[in-house]
Amino acid sequence: MGRRIARGRTTRPGRKALGRWLGLLGSAWLGAVCLGAPPLAAAPRPPAADLPPAADLPGLTPAALRVETIARRLLLDNAPHCTALAHDYGFKAAPSGPASWGAAIVMVWPDGPAAAAGLRPGDLVRAANAVPWSADTAERARFDAALAAAAADAHLVLEVERDGRRHMVALPGQPRCAATVRLSARPMVNAAAVASTIEIGAGLERLLADDAELAFTLAHEVAHVLLGHTVPSRRAALATREARGAAEQEADAFALRLMAAAGYDPGAAAGAWLKVADAARPPLHRLLDLHGPYLATAERAAFLTREAARLTVPIPPLLLAARRTR
Ligand SMILES: [Zn+2]
Repeated sequence: MGRRIARGRTTRPGRKALGRWLGLLGSAWLGAVCLGAPPLAAAPRPPAADLPPAADLPGLTPAALRVETIARRLLLDNAPHCTALAHDYGFKAAPSGPASWGAAIVMVWPDGPAAAAGLRPGDLVRAANAVPWSADTAERARFDAALAAAAADAHLVLEVERDGRRHMVALPGQPRCAATVRLSARPMVNAAAVASTIEIGAGLERLLADDAELAFTLAHEVAHVLLGHTVPSRRAALATREARGAAEQEADAFALRLMAAAGYDPGAAAGAWLKVADAARPPLHRLLDLHGPYLATAERAAFLTREAARLTVPIPPLLLAARRTR
């Protein structure tokens, strides 16, 4: 179960708050793709811990789906602040194989267009935007490409089979920030972003069992993408240790805003960082506290705690009392 912050504010921060935020980011904000500071409120969503059991996820692991669920929430809830957008339809189809006769839907997020249209796990997608599923490998690649290309459009029409009957379903795409997040098979306790693709090490996903803690590491990489740090032409500008350090601190501060806007407690960030600092470095690096372009371990944790405290909305006393009686 992830830690979530209490909600109640639905308005976006005013000019004053935005000015403070822009001041924090300094000149590096110029050229970034984000349009403003994310708000501190988000629509309630179930935690990633409520995912279906592994047996119901052919072709997917629960860990990969957990990463996707948390990333999806970050990208959807921060869409108003991104200029580069893609579209979400709120379902996940298993990779189609010759024995399946279609792409089986394995996950329908309860807050998305697919759920609103009545789609359910087990439904079989037979065609996507008029491109039919096929047992032929080359033909099926066209189908897979059509399904993937729908992320760039705002509209997806599926031909869906359930209980032997076929019907057409038109789904409106929900805008989300354009970034791809995937779980690596490698056991690294690390995450990296190249252009708009983010890869999370399997070791990192295992280490951070709390959704809010994992959300911090995902949000940090998403922040690098949204702030333009991963644009290849900016690589030279970030070559020095000082510039890298400034970019890392920007990404940390922005990640906390992304977390808060998506309903994750930014107060979880410092704890996540301390766990990663402990697990990701070899013993000698830990002993000498070698920290590359980042702030020293304790200093970075203090920075995250300080910044999170400025963002966290206090949980109303009545809600706390209700939690204690459960
Ligand atoms: Zn970073």
